Amino acid sequence: MNCKTIVTELTNYLDDALDPMLRQALEQHLGKCKDCRLVVDTTKQTIQIYCNSEPAPLPTDTRQRLHAALEKKLRRARA
Ligand SMILES: [Zn+2]
Repeated sequence: MNCKTIVTELTNYLDDALDPMLRQALEQHLGKCKDCRLVVDTTKQTIQIYCNSEPAPLPTDTRQRLHAALEKKLRRARA
């Protein structure tokens, strides 16, 4: 499990759609990677704000935009 995998699996993790093994590996990574914890926290907050104003699941285009933004952010953080 590395930072890139976290970003790839993040939306599944937040949707509770991850395989338990994968989820455990992800949480282990979060325990030792501050960058990813920050990304997860920020994303959770974003989703909460979104869900409060709109009681529907995240539409696909929003998920994709979120994903793209996160990948960009992560790349910048690693550069
Ligand atoms: Zn990480």
